[in-house]
Amino acid sequence: KPLLEIDQIHVRYGDMTALRGVSITVAESEVVCVIGPNGAGKSTTLAAVAGGVKPFRGEVRLNGTAITGRAPERIAALGVSLVPEGRHIFGSLTVDENLAIGGYMRNDKAGVAADRARLLDLLPRLAERLHYPAGRLSGGEQQMLAIARAVMTRPRLLLVDEPSLGLAPKIVDQIYEILLDLRRRDGLTLLINEQSSNRILNHADRIHVLRAGVIQLEGRAEDLRDG
Ligand code: ADP
Ligand code: ADP
Repeated sequence: KPLLEIDQIHVRYGDMTALRGVSITVAESEVVCVIGPNGAGKSTTLAAVAGGVKPFRGEVRLNGTAITGRAPERIAALGVSLVPEGRHIFGSLTVDENLAIGGYMRNDKAGVAADRARLLDLLPRLAERLHYPAGRLSGGEQQMLAIARAVMTRPRLLLVDEPSLGLAPKIVDQIYEILLDLRRRDGLTLLINEQSSNRILNHADRIHVLRAGVIQLEGRAEDLRDG
């Protein structure tokens, strides 16, 4: 049974229809990318999973259970975490304080401390800058921090909105290395939005191309790369 099934969802903002029957299935520990230009409906698709918007038709299922239209906190409690576009880190707080915010809703202090240590092993650049104000980090480091903070909630499914935006290709590869490390280590499942597929095809298992609220094409990344 797939971890996530987005099944024929339609989403409207007022009288503008942003998604028209979008279906995406993500298996446990899979890395799936949604590629599409600005305005295609990528953020709306992630919001429909995380509970930020409610589809007026279709269903979202997590592990077979319909979660369509549930409140964001309830969906987060099921192990879904969103890294929004633009990172949304707290620039005047330190790197460590930003990480603490990720763990703040959890009750087990020991688990949070252990996860923090494990994450910092994976992210030496953040480990070296724990007491820097997050606003002084480079764009790539801020993206790493946003991902790390989201992972501190211990999600099974991580939704990442345009992690490559504004970053140099080399940094993009580093961000994906981190995401794939998390998948390897924790079995994390990833659904990632991107505008362009150039580098992403090297990192994803499957790709869906979204345009004007409709999936135009889907396939295994390696087939799309070769074709
Ligand atoms: P993408 O993430 O691919 O850039 P979005 O999901 O953000 O696309 O947006 C899809 C369409 O829905 C766009 O035309 C956008 O302007 C519109 N849209 C997104 N959010 C809202 C909103 N809160 N209210 C009205 N229209 C919106
Ligand atoms: P993205 O490329 O991720 O969709 P946008 O710049 O389209 O980013 O949207 C940024 C924010 O503005 C989002 O919260 C989105 O919901 C909202 N938004 C986008 N388009 C509109 C719109 N036409 N009317 C109102 N809000 C919008």
